Amino acid sequence: ILCSSQDFDFFYFVQQWPASYCDTRRSCCYPTTGKPDEDFSIHGLWPNYNSGKYPQNCDRESSLDRSEITDLVSRMQKDWPTLACPSGDGMKFWGHEWEKHGTCTSLDQHSYFQAALDLKSKANLLQVLGDAGIRPGKFYSLESIKKAIEEGVGYEAYIECNVDPAGNHQLYQVYMCVDTSASDFIKCPILPHGRACGKNIEFPSFSSNSQSQDE
Ligand code: 5GP
Ligand code: 5GP
Ligand code: 5GP
Repeated sequence: ILCSSQDFDFFYFVQQWPASYCDTRRSCCYPTTGKPDEDFSIHGLWPNYNSGKYPQNCDRESSLDRSEITDLVSRMQKDWPTLACPSGDGMKFWGHEWEKHGTCTSLDQHSYFQAALDLKSKANLLQVLGDAGIRPGKFYSLESIKKAIEEGVGYEAYIECNVDPAGNHQLYQVYMCVDTSASDFIKCPILPHGRACGKNIEFPSFSSNSQSQDE
């Protein structure tokens, strides 16, 4: 069997909520380019099989070439910021995503990152939730969040939670499924195995009182 690099069934498009990445015992560090907006940001665009398995690191020779994505960098700094410590400009995070997941698609580097940026705009999650009255700074039922996304985007999303320092479950990542052309949302063939949520979950704000912690 040939190990073809476009042999997968769909993508998970995964967005993270920065306040929940930071507001845990795990520390976060703001990017060298500044504190991210209070908005969902991209974690990755991950090729997946219908079985739930997924390919990874499909081309050990390929690494992210900054010159291929020069025109996308300012959008990536805004929509795909890195929150891991130590602070970075994003190239390490994007390079990791390219090597682990991007190399298993049939897309070139520019198309891969462009597709993810366009999917973020298309989903417009913060706006979709806001239209349903779901705004950072309060608790909501998991059901109401899922319903708002299904109505606003057209398909069920999977919500992954983590736990804040006070022990509350909070909205951490949103998984949406995308067709193999990386352009349209689809109904998820299989939901991922993210961490569980309670019935009521916190949607924490990421405003001036949140702080970057150095490791
Ligand atoms: P975690 O164990 O933190 O959920 O995931 C670690 C990493 O494994 C993710 O950042 C991602 O790169 C990969 N990963 C986890 N779950 C999935 C999945 O369902 N599909 C794909 N394609 N990758 C995943
Ligand atoms: P994945 O979990 O996609 O395989 O890998 C995520 C990797 O990127 C981890 O090594 C993590 O430390 C790094 N990383 C850098 N910035 C971020 C970020 O903002 N969010 C997440 N989830 N991982 C990040
Ligand atoms: P069912 O698929 O039977 O509706 O749900 C199975 C379990 O998964 C239930 O406990 C339900 O609350 C949970 N669940 C459904 N959707 C989500 C989701 O998007 N995120 C998480 N974490 N759990 C979910």
